[in-house]
Amino acid sequence: MHFGLFLDFLKERLSQQKELRVEPKEIDIVRAYMFGHVPRNVSDRDKLDAAAIETFYEIVEREFGYDVELVDIDYGGRRLRAIDRFAENPDDEWTPREKRVDVALASSMLFYAAIPYAYDIAIPVIGDEDFVPVLQKVRSLGRRVAIASIKTRRNSPCSHVYSAEYDEEGIRDFDVIWLNELASKVQVPQRIIQCQDPNHVGRPQSVTTALQVPGRPDVCDDCRDRSRVERRKTMAGLTEKMQEIESRGWPSHCGLACGVVAAKKIDKNNKPYAFVKAKVNERPYDFYMNQYDLEPGLSWDSIAELDILVFHPEIKPPDSVHARKVRRPVDADWDNKKGSTAGSPG
Ligand SMILES: [Zn+2]
Repeated sequence: MHFGLFLDFLKERLSQQKELRVEPKEIDIVRAYMFGHVPRNVSDRDKLDAAAIETFYEIVEREFGYDVELVDIDYGGRRLRAIDRFAENPDDEWTPREKRVDVALASSMLFYAAIPYAYDIAIPVIGDEDFVPVLQKVRSLGRRVAIASIKTRRNSPCSHVYSAEYDEEGIRDFDVIWLNELASKVQVPQRIIQCQDPNHVGRPQSVTTALQVPGRPDVCDDCRDRSRVERRKTMAGLTEKMQEIESRGWPSHCGLACGVVAAKKIDKNNKPYAFVKAKVNERPYDFYMNQYDLEPGLSWDSIAELDILVFHPEIKPPDSVHARKVRRPVDADWDNKKGSTAGSPG
């Protein structure tokens, strides 16, 4: 998104409001704030992405003149994305506490409302009914409020509060400015890149709207969208497969583990590898494996994400977990329930 054009869009929409009816140029944006959080102490694997988030806010501040207020959130060594945190440990319910970001926004809006002539109209870009009390207070201090929000397809309760015909809560002075149509209006700065996604289709020269991040492969928009959809599918499938294994009562007899292929990848040297998600002694792990870990007769190409595999888990603290002697499960594996505890491990 181009944040310079974003402000022009808000100006234009505000100027069209029947309560105002002015030329866009008569509206003066005195300050633009952006509130967000910067992930700290993320897993080493996500350090580059965390740096990219910081770079993004730097650009918004430097290039577009926003006042950027950031809250640090300690990830405690976790992965950055929810899907990766889930893959690493489905039982970990930790989520970044973004409430502090909301409070920072509310505080600034109220703070400047209390300063005479700091602003006339606040345009909070929000989608959350938690802001109702602060909007009421801002208005009681004599400032006007024009809410900008995104209309969701489902009738979500939050946008309902903002979009209701009659403003029961007393939180706005204008019709809500819907940002949905912005997407089609705004020209996102595009870059021509050589797409580095191994699954890219067609000529590698393609277009991206993503920020360039040193050290991270450039991927075209199509590939980015596709992998987003696939990640979501994989996440849903993973849950299902893990439940299937649990429900079939997989025994950890003979020191074997049973898991689901969570991701199949290719490293910098073009060597394929994969992660198999499995629980050993009730603890979830992502077991690394490559083609040399497969039992004879099993080919790497035949293995797909979400396949259920059986293997010998090799766990070497602190962080080496490797799947050895990988094969597909056979009926006997499932039939061999916990009754076989007499069998010695290994
Ligand atoms: Zn691509």
